[in-house]
Amino acid sequence: MSTKSVSKPVPSACPECGTARVVAEALNTVRVARADVGALRQASANNDSEFWALVCPDCGHTTLFAKTPARLLG
Ligand SMILES: [Zn+2]
Repeated sequence: MSTKSVSKPVPSACPECGTARVVAEALNTVRVARADVGALRQASANNDSEFWALVCPDCGHTTLFAKTPARLLG
């Protein structure tokens, strides 16, 4: 399994309101459920990932990037 890590994203303007976003980390607060072939599986300790988050301080719109996306396929 690839353990390639995704680099910290560069903040861009909020797609909803245009305000400059900030980078944050989502560590243990986000759970990923994976939909595949009609089954929805709960993430486990072996197929999880922490996330980078781009957060708009004005409207709250948030974009998440898995830090190690290949782990989600495990
Ligand atoms: Zn916004």
